[in-house]
Amino acid sequence: MSSPTILKVAVNVPLSRLFDYLPPAGSTAVQPGSRVIVPFGRQKQTGVVMALAEGSDVPQSKLRRCHALLDEVPLLATSDLRLISFASDYYHHPIGEVVAAALPALLRVGKPLLPSVQSVAINDAGARVDIEVLARRAPRQAELLQVLIDAGGSGMDVDALNDRLPDWRRAAKPLFNKELLVWFTSTAPASPPECDVVATPGPDLNNDQQRVLETLRAAAGYSAFLLDGVTGSGKTEVYLQLMRDVLAQARQVLILVPEIGLTPQLVTRLRQRLGIEPAVLHSGLSDIERLAAWRNAQQGHAQLVVGTRSAIFTPMPKLGLIVVDEEHDHSLKQQEGLRYSARDLAIMRARNGDVRVILGSATPTLESLQHCHAGNFTHLSLPQRAGGARPPLLRLVSLDDAAQSDGLSTTLAAAIERQLNDDGQILLFLNRRGFAPTLICTGCGHLAECERCDSRMTVHARDHALRCHHCGAQARLPESCAQCGASVKPLGAGTERLEDALLQRFPGYVVRRIDSDSTQQRGAIEAALSAAEQGDADILVGTQMLSKGHHFPKLTLVGVVNADQGLFGTDFRAAERLAQSIIQVAGRAGRETQQGEVLIQTAFPEHPFWPLLLGGGYPVVAAAALAEREQSRWPPFTRLALLRSNAHRQSDALAFLQRAVELIGAEHSATLRLLGPVNAPMARKAGRYRAQLLLQSSDRRTLHTLLATLRPALEAEPAARKVRWSIDVDPIELF
Ligand code: ADP
Ligand code: ZN
Repeated sequence: MSSPTILKVAVNVPLSRLFDYLPPAGSTAVQPGSRVIVPFGRQKQTGVVMALAEGSDVPQSKLRRCHALLDEVPLLATSDLRLISFASDYYHHPIGEVVAAALPALLRVGKPLLPSVQSVAINDAGARVDIEVLARRAPRQAELLQVLIDAGGSGMDVDALNDRLPDWRRAAKPLFNKELLVWFTSTAPASPPECDVVATPGPDLNNDQQRVLETLRAAAGYSAFLLDGVTGSGKTEVYLQLMRDVLAQARQVLILVPEIGLTPQLVTRLRQRLGIEPAVLHSGLSDIERLAAWRNAQQGHAQLVVGTRSAIFTPMPKLGLIVVDEEHDHSLKQQEGLRYSARDLAIMRARNGDVRVILGSATPTLESLQHCHAGNFTHLSLPQRAGGARPPLLRLVSLDDAAQSDGLSTTLAAAIERQLNDDGQILLFLNRRGFAPTLICTGCGHLAECERCDSRMTVHARDHALRCHHCGAQARLPESCAQCGASVKPLGAGTERLEDALLQRFPGYVVRRIDSDSTQQRGAIEAALSAAEQGDADILVGTQMLSKGHHFPKLTLVGVVNADQGLFGTDFRAAERLAQSIIQVAGRAGRETQQGEVLIQTAFPEHPFWPLLLGGGYPVVAAAALAEREQSRWPPFTRLALLRSNAHRQSDALAFLQRAVELIGAEHSATLRLLGPVNAPMARKAGRYRAQLLLQSSDRRTLHTLLATLRPALEAEPAARKVRWSIDVDPIELF
C-alpha cells in the first residue's frame, strides 16, 4: 500500500516551520498553492499548502486531517510559492507569516477568491405550476415565476432580479413558502478592469532615451538594469515605450513605486499613455478593493499592476517586465514584521520568471551602483534633462543671525522675494513637521521630553499640543515650565513655524504647507499636490513628502531650509541620504523653460561634503561614499543583519541578545563580526527598552547559514518569552 500524501502547510504563526496534515476527507488531489482549513491546537486556521510529501516525521496516529480545501484551483502558482519561500529563507522570517503578508486580508482569513452571487431559480414543482391560473389570483407571483421559467435552470442572480422586477422579493416570499423556488450560491467570474481612455502617443524619444531603449529591447530573458537618469531626464518615457512592447506581447507589467498617494501623476500618465486601466495596489484600499485588484492581476486580466512594496508578491501569470521606480526610496523596505526590500525581491522575482527588471532613480543606492560595477546590473544613464529643460543651479547659503528665529536667512528671504516678484513658484523643504522640534524653559533651560521615550516632544502650535513623534504621546502645550515655573518658548523651526514666518514676511501671497499633519484626511494629499501643480500656491512648504517625483511646472526656486541634520549623522549612510534628499528636492525646480535655482542653507559651508555635491553632483558624492564604504568595510562590501529586542526591563532586552551571542558561539569569530549587544540609539521608546546586536560578515553565505540555525534556536529560547525580538536582514536603519 502506498503511503498517504502529506500536505506541508504554512500556517500564520511565528514559528519557522511548515506543519504536516492529511488531505481533507474525500477530496481529490490537493495541489500546492491552495488554501486549506486546518485544526491548529484547539482552533481552526487558514493555511496554504506549500508542498506535498510522501511521508512525515509526525507519527501516523498523531497526524491530523485538514477540515476543508478552499481552492480547487491553486491560488498561488509554483513561481509565487518560490518567491515566498525565498523571502522566508532570505529574511529568516516564519514561512506562515510570509504567506500571510503575500495575501490580501480577505484571502488570509479564508474568504473566496471570486465573489459569490446569490441566485434564485425554480425547482421541478415550480416548473409544473399553471401560470395562467396563478395569474388570476396573484399576478405578481405569476410574473416572477414566468421570468424565472424563461431564465431556465440556472435562475437569475439578485442584481438582475432587482433590475427586472424591483419588488420581486414580496412576490417571492409565498413562492418560497410553497417550495416552488430555491436559493443557490455561485461564483461570479472575475472581470478585467475597464479603461475608457484612448492611448495618446508621447514625445519622440531623444537620442539618449533611444539608446537606452534599444539596450533594454535587446535583452532577452532575465536581465537587471539600473536606469540612472537625472530628475526630468525622461526615465518614465523610456519605461512607457518598453511597456508597450511587453503589453503588445500580451504579457503583464509590474510597477513598484514608493508611495502611490504621493505619485498620483504616474497612474494618470500610465492610463492616458497606454489606454489601460492599471490594477492599483496600495495600503489605502479597502479589503474588498484590494482583493479585486489582486484577483485581476492573479487571473491575468490586469495587464498593468502598479503598487507599493507589498505588490511584489502579487501573482501575475503572464509577467513580462518589472519596473521599480525611485529604487533609492526607503519606503520600498518594510521596517516591521517581515522586513523585506521589495526592490531586492523584484530582482529575485525577475530572475525566477526570466524577465527584465529595471530599477530607476536619479540618485541610485550605492548597493545598486556596486551591482553595476560587479557586472550584475547593466548601468544605463540619462545624464541630461529631456526636452530642453536645464539642470537646476545649486548654491550654498550660510545660516546667518536672521535665520535664528524662523529659519530663513537674509539671502534665502531675498531670493524668495525676487521669485515672487517674477511670478515664480517656490518650494521650501524642511524635514521637520510641527511648529518647533521642542520647547525650552527660559529660566532653567529644561526641555520638554517624552515620558515614555528618550526623545523630545515636538511643539504643535496649531492644536496647542506637545506631541511625541515616536510613540504618539500628547500633552497640552504648557504656558510655563513644569520644573521652575518660568516662561517657555519653542526652540528651532518646523514646517508650521516656517509657514507662519512666510505669511508674515510675504503678505498677500498663498502659502501652502504639505506634510503628514496637513494631509491627514483621505484624498488631502492628492488635492494639495494638484493645487500645487496648477500653480494655485506661491510658496509650498513641506517635508520629504514634497520631494518625490512631482512635476510642478511653475516651480523655479527650491530652498533647503536646513541641510545640517544629515551632515553629522552617525549612520554610515548619512552622506548618501543627504545627497539623495537634496538632489531629489532640487529636481523639482525648473522642469520646464525657466532654469531652476536651489539654495541650500547650512551652518557649515566648509564641510567637505559640499564641494563634492556642488562640484560633481550625485555621481561624485556616490563614488566618494562608495570608496569610503569599501575602506571601512560597510555595505555593499559587507553584509549586515540586525537582531533587535525590546522589553519592559532593559536587562531582559540585553540578556536575550547576550544569549544570542552565546548561541552564535566562538567558531564563527573568524568570518563574523558582532557589534553589541548594546542599547539602541533611542534606548527607550513607548515605555520599552530597546537593544540590538549587529552581525556583519564579508560573506553573505556565512551570515545566512548562521541565521538559519540561530532563528529556530531563538524561537525555542526561554529568554525570548520576556522580549519582543526581530531579525532585520540588510537593515537600512541601524536603530
Ligand atoms: P523622469 O521620469 O526621468 O523624471 P519624465 O519621463 O517624467 O522624466 O520626463 C520629464 C518631463 O520631460 C516630462 O514632462 C516629459 O513629458 C518630458 N519629456 C520626456 N522625454 C521627452 C522627450 N524625448 N521630448 C520632449 N519631452 C520629453
Ligand atoms: Zn514618546
